[in-house]
Amino acid sequence: NQSLIIVKEPQGMPKYGEDLKLVDSSINLESADLQGGILLKTITMSLDPTLRNSMRIGQKSYARHYEAGKPIWGFGVSEVLRSEHPKWKKGDLLHSRETIMAQYSVLTGAQVDASTDEFFAKVDRVPELNITNYVSAAGMPGMTAWMSLKAIIGDFKKDSTIFVTSAAGAVGSLVCQLAKEAGSKVIASAGSDDKVRFLQEDCHVDRAFNYKTADVNAELAAFGGEKGIDYFFDNVGGPQLEAYLNHAAVYGVVIVCGVISAYNATADSPAPAIKNFPTSVLVKQLTVRGFIVSSFLKEQRETFFKSMPGLLRDGKIKFREDVREGMDALGPGMVDLLKGDHNGKMVVL
Ligand code: NDP
Repeated sequence: NQSLIIVKEPQGMPKYGEDLKLVDSSINLESADLQGGILLKTITMSLDPTLRNSMRIGQKSYARHYEAGKPIWGFGVSEVLRSEHPKWKKGDLLHSRETIMAQYSVLTGAQVDASTDEFFAKVDRVPELNITNYVSAAGMPGMTAWMSLKAIIGDFKKDSTIFVTSAAGAVGSLVCQLAKEAGSKVIASAGSDDKVRFLQEDCHVDRAFNYKTADVNAELAAFGGEKGIDYFFDNVGGPQLEAYLNHAAVYGVVIVCGVISAYNATADSPAPAIKNFPTSVLVKQLTVRGFIVSSFLKEQRETFFKSMPGLLRDGKIKFREDVREGMDALGPGMVDLLKGDHNGKMVVL
């Protein structure tokens, strides 16, 4: 039974083989003691930028931290192979934020009952969707896009404009399409020309640009219109946030979903500072809202599952998955994700 463990806290970009490593252990699938719980086979794992926060062993953030020398976990779907628990039966599919990155794992009855994982739920699968979709557009990233727009913006203002960063990513690409669907003009930035093409051709945004080669301020000035940009969906922070502040509309709304430009910061290479933040918030009377998807699950999970899988099945929302195969792909995939070397939602099957 292979699993991916964290050896020590990475400094800067995680290194596979040094910080993260695959190890072998044995598990007897017929006789493993379940203590009233369930035996799980991992079907698909999601690799998400937020897992980098869980690697900050011993530091405080919104993410629960990994323990050195122990397997790491993330969003995933597993199949129940054996069950001694009344709520679960053989063949059920379980979605959880704490899916262990191992081929097989056991959750004892006490662990099942004590789980505080808000995402711990049975997957009610729409047959036309791939199982990987349940960790991408029909899973947590989809919920993030959907729930944040509903909860923070609600109805888009008439003639509004939204700027989305990391827009070709798992969350960003869905935000772009949901905002378009709601009638907003969408400006999108991403880090490669291929991602820009995807945004233009598949997501039908109004303007997409490569923030690594374009002048972000000039783009926002040209496409933000005279009154400025009403909404900013930020996955990144750093210089693009600073540029938005220069082009924000009065009463603009900023959804802070992620700060990926700061995730690998170290003392020697700190996160970029945002110089004009308080002044712009004051002068433009901006509303800045942080968003954590788990806080909105109770309220919105049901509506999400009634709407999103259908939109995906009918091809109304397009999304890309970068599907890697096998346990060997987990560690290198995590590094690629943090470097931006992937095309679409990073999943491992
Ligand atoms: P993505 O699929 O967007 O993958 C990450 C992307 O971030 C990379 O492909 C890269 O895209 C971009 N990136 C990486 N490093 C930098 C950098 N230094 N500066 C600018 N861009 C960078 O990930 P997700 O869609 O899954 O997540 C997007 C964001 O949302 C993350 O910050 C994540 O932590 C956050 N998130 C927050 C949630 C919440 O509840 N608040 C829930 C889910 C995600 P590119 O090539 O375009 O630069």
